[in-house]
Amino acid sequence: MTMKVHSFAAGAWIAPGEGARPIHSAISGKVIAEAGGSALDFGQMLDFAKSKGGPALRAMGFHDRAAMLKQLALYLNERRDALYEISYDTGATLGDHRFDIDGGIGTLFVYSSKGRREMPDGNVYLDGGLERFGREGSFLGQHVAVPLQGVAVHINAFNFPVWGMLEKLSPCLLAGVPAIVKPATATSYVTEAAVRMILESGLLPEGAVQFIAGSTGDLLDRLGPQDVVSFTGSAATGTMLRANPNIVANAVRFVAEQDSLNASILGPDVAPGSPAFDIFIKEVHREMTVKAGQKCTAVRRIIVPEALEQAVIEALSLRLGQTVIGDPREKEVRMGALVSAAQKDEVLAKAAIIGEEAARVFGDPDDFALVGNVDRGAFLPPLLYHCAEPDTATKVHETEAFGPVSTVMPYRDLAHAIEIANRGAGSLVASVVTESGEVAREVVMQAGPLHGRLYFNNPTSAAEATGHGAPMPHMIHGGPGRAGGGEELGGVRGVLHYMQRTAVQGSPDLLTAIGGRWVPGAAERPAPAHPFTRRFGELSIGETIHTKSREITLEDIEHFAHFTGDTFYAHMDEDAAAANPFFPGRVAHGYLLLSFAAGLFVQPDPGPVLANTGLDNLRFLMPVVPGDSLKVRLTVKQKTRRTADHGEVRWHVTLYNQRDEVVAEYELLTMNAY
Ligand code: NAP
Repeated sequence: MTMKVHSFAAGAWIAPGEGARPIHSAISGKVIAEAGGSALDFGQMLDFAKSKGGPALRAMGFHDRAAMLKQLALYLNERRDALYEISYDTGATLGDHRFDIDGGIGTLFVYSSKGRREMPDGNVYLDGGLERFGREGSFLGQHVAVPLQGVAVHINAFNFPVWGMLEKLSPCLLAGVPAIVKPATATSYVTEAAVRMILESGLLPEGAVQFIAGSTGDLLDRLGPQDVVSFTGSAATGTMLRANPNIVANAVRFVAEQDSLNASILGPDVAPGSPAFDIFIKEVHREMTVKAGQKCTAVRRIIVPEALEQAVIEALSLRLGQTVIGDPREKEVRMGALVSAAQKDEVLAKAAIIGEEAARVFGDPDDFALVGNVDRGAFLPPLLYHCAEPDTATKVHETEAFGPVSTVMPYRDLAHAIEIANRGAGSLVASVVTESGEVAREVVMQAGPLHGRLYFNNPTSAAEATGHGAPMPHMIHGGPGRAGGGEELGGVRGVLHYMQRTAVQGSPDLLTAIGGRWVPGAAERPAPAHPFTRRFGELSIGETIHTKSREITLEDIEHFAHFTGDTFYAHMDEDAAAANPFFPGRVAHGYLLLSFAAGLFVQPDPGPVLANTGLDNLRFLMPVVPGDSLKVRLTVKQKTRRTADHGEVRWHVTLYNQRDEVVAEYELLTMNAY
């Protein structure tokens, strides 16, 4: 039965309509679905997202939304077999599903974790530190980021129907922005199945996610300055969409991830047959065959030392020859089909262009073995080309055959290798197999500006290396120039694409109220009881105690030195200490000050403070000499709920001497019972 890929608009599923396009199975060539032509009111979809989804998402904070992402990840994880099953018809193998479906779910998990660990509760993200404009500190600056009030339109490529959606949704929903998802029509039936699961989970507020199967109609013409378009696809489509006059006129954010002529360099230090050489061959082979090479990050250009050209071609051909191609449902199959017969024609046309400058040294599109009872329609073997003259060639550096097609090219020295890699005119990723720090540094300096990600691998890192072609949610994905000039993922950086960064200036009290983090100079609240006796929920930001003072004697310093073994001359030798430009003579250990500070501010009884978990931003600002005295101000700076039972309290700790000069300052972290 033909699946009808529905859209989900303003709370209703809408069937394909007149002009719907047939979608063919990549394996059998039969029509399995139809999509498009749905009668969609794009104005209503935008209103629905802005009036329902946005406010509901923003009523939650980063932590609530992070928890929601985790629940969603768990929900989808339980149902991933059903998604695998649907996905075989895209030509993908089980290994490919793991990349797409598990990779997408993994991205939700990572964003959930980052949201809880690296973002505050609430909706104001503090970006960077405080800026001071005067001596008194009564007027300060702080960059903050707050969620946009519009809608994100996510347009995705066909190759990752699930990851493509979830890698955009994760940071977007964490930011608090509703999305309209538009997958590529060719694999939209897989995305639709995932969207149905997401909506059926009931975990997202109404209006948080809508879905378009087919054309976006006049949607882009309706977007405004609070909206974002995040596009993944070919450079041709990206260039056309970003030039939409409405997008230009309203300065609508347009994030583009486009195609890319990614390179992999075999380092000049690598000997043939060495473990590093094998790693290179393995990585390149994987990039050519995973998803049948339909990966924006796949290695298109294999850049190797002149002397190793033949060795690389032989080793790679051997491995490519062992790759079992065929019905992706068959266990032994390692490479499935391209997404459609049309895509195969497109790849062959591009391969023919590459063939004008390079000789095919492995693979014959008309003669290759296939496993399983499958139509030849969308299958291709890996095609390896050899371009002997990469300097005079142009097409091999410009033509992306979005399939299992790569070209080996020789280099003379490292500078030449980098020059060739950079001929891609901006790419998503370049990899280098090397054990040389000098090589790696030179590549970063000379190739870094042209590549969104640089991936180095060698025998030390191979066991844990994540793969040339795998964008990790923690690291940015995107690249300059031809790759679209966009950037996605990269942890919290990816969330900020859906937020407005605003420079806020004002008094310490106002900045404390805005950011939910106490700013030095803001009013202190006298603590009603010792704050260590107060539970997480009872503590308020700015709650402060001032301790009594304690004199520091030479005996204290001597005792501490011998007790800990820290007999550094600045604490023990008057003349040597005085010769130091920073000290008047023997001074107290910084760690002694910290220890005495704790002795002054702790309340020792068992209570809500469960553990001291760390200390941030410690600065010793002034030497403390025997005879000085020490007192402490302890202020509740920030509270971050971690679980239902406990939360993290960040305390601002300031150590003063008897002249009220600040001698040290830091932030103390404790875990407190709720
Ligand atoms: P594509 O043809 O450019 O299509 C990309 C998306 O744009 C699809 O959802 C497509 O929808 C949509 N689209 C096309 N015309 C549109 C229009 N006028 N208005 C609104 N949307 C429109 O690319 P593809 O063939 O799906 O994917 C392959 C390409 O994507 C390759 O070049 C690959 O390198 C690139 N890619 C890049 C990345 C990356 O992260 N940088 C990742 C994956 C793929 P329809 O399918 O309905 O036309």
